Amino acid sequence: MNFFREFFKNFDCKSEIYTFVVNFTLQNLRYNKVMLRLLYDSFLGMLAPRKCLACESLIPENYSHGSGGLAEYICGRCFDRLPPAPHPHDILSGVAKNFQGDTLAIHSLAARFQRAERIGSDSSSITPLLYALKYHGMQRLGRLLGQELGHLLLVLGANAYDAIIPVPIHSARERERGYNQSKHIADGIADILYLPVETRWIRRHTYTLSQTNFSREERKQNVHRAFMIGKAKDAGAQIKGSSVLLVDDILTTGATLNACAMTLLELGARRVDAATVAKA
Ligand SMILES: [Zn+2]
Repeated sequence: MNFFREFFKNFDCKSEIYTFVVNFTLQNLRYNKVMLRLLYDSFLGMLAPRKCLACESLIPENYSHGSGGLAEYICGRCFDRLPPAPHPHDILSGVAKNFQGDTLAIHSLAARFQRAERIGSDSSSITPLLYALKYHGMQRLGRLLGQELGHLLLVLGANAYDAIIPVPIHSARERERGYNQSKHIADGIADILYLPVETRWIRRHTYTLSQTNFSREERKQNVHRAFMIGKAKDAGAQIKGSSVLLVDDILTTGATLNACAMTLLELGARRVDAATVAKA
């Protein structure tokens, strides 16, 4: 110890050494967390082999199909039978019917899949994937679904935005769940469109109830005025004049997306489009 003390006396670098030690420890903690996660995942893989979330058939190691990484979560047969959502024009005119007399703040609306009401022999359902993303912590699945949606947006030519904004969830809910599923979807879209994801332009300031069993009118009331300017230092200036893409997991009546879009327009956004993985 005396040797070290004498050694360091010759240098005025104690703070640098301290910073190095702290950073080294933090990096290792982060690295260990990733390693633990990988070990845990492969351990689970050995105990419970991967199954298709839609049909529960076993997914072999190194299995792949046309949807890239989604092959870890859904087999090729089920993926090919996921019903695609209607064209954006048809989606928007359907949603507009829910807003007669109210302002529809969304300019255009795209979805990748149609959530099937009934699963026939010629269709499978996206629902178990969205459920796993939201409630079973499968965050990587969100990014992969986002990439699927990103490819659709690219084909539609919907790729010129200043920012991609995931619909915010209340901070208490985010703490409870550990993440906002829409943020992962937005990250997946960003992988394809090379656009920035902004999570601090707007925020949700009311802890709204789950909308699952709400009527169309109740959904509107539930989310009315639920959003406000976010905590980014220059949020107001950034939003002003911007063209943004709002992202959510599923489109039901459009009440949440519209309330969010309305807030952005009131804050000076020029145009708000929206995209969801699925349309109910
Ligand atoms: Zn399957």
